[in-house]
Amino acid sequence: MFVKNGRPGRSPLLLHICCAPDATVPVRDLKAEGFDVIGLFYGSNIHPEDEYRRRAGALARLSVCEGFDVVYLPYEPEVWLSSAYALKDEPERGKRCALCFAIQLSAAASYANTQAAAPLRFCTTLTISPHKDVKLISSLGREISARHGLIWEDRVWRKNGGFLRSVQISRSLGLYRQNYCGCVYSEKPL
Ligand code: SF4
Repeated sequence: MFVKNGRPGRSPLLLHICCAPDATVPVRDLKAEGFDVIGLFYGSNIHPEDEYRRRAGALARLSVCEGFDVVYLPYEPEVWLSSAYALKDEPERGKRCALCFAIQLSAAASYANTQAAAPLRFCTTLTISPHKDVKLISSLGREISARHGLIWEDRVWRKNGGFLRSVQISRSLGLYRQNYCGCVYSEKPL
């Protein structure tokens, strides 16, 4: 399913997607810039499995509405938990979240490595959230991209009203919007 060299005249870009609502603006803007966007959903941080399925389903719907492909990595919550459990008492935006971002971006970058024929551009939807540390995400993105031979597209999607736009687009498409970040340790409303 991976488009190795992009559609004619378009550069392929792998977009790590944390959830469908957060992908709305990045997908539209990157496509408008001429990128051939391929989404990648990690998802193993999400608890419980029903919630994972709701979020994966919302993303499948977005991919049809917006016309882009998505790679879904296998749902392996036990693998994510084996790394994150030691940091279970950390607050949100703390060390567990930093590790979680690194796990997700590394999984996406590793996938890209196995698929891409040429240096591939790489980006994430994580920076649309007002709750996330964008400096940390940017520095992880650069470091992980360099390690995997990818070109990091550094974007802060929440800038210039990006978050509000994502809410509006999600509403207009009737996308499911969760009220907690995702993992078992964050299962309370934001
Ligand atoms: S709160 Fe969100 S970012 Fe932090 S560890 Fe849980 S799922 Fe990951």
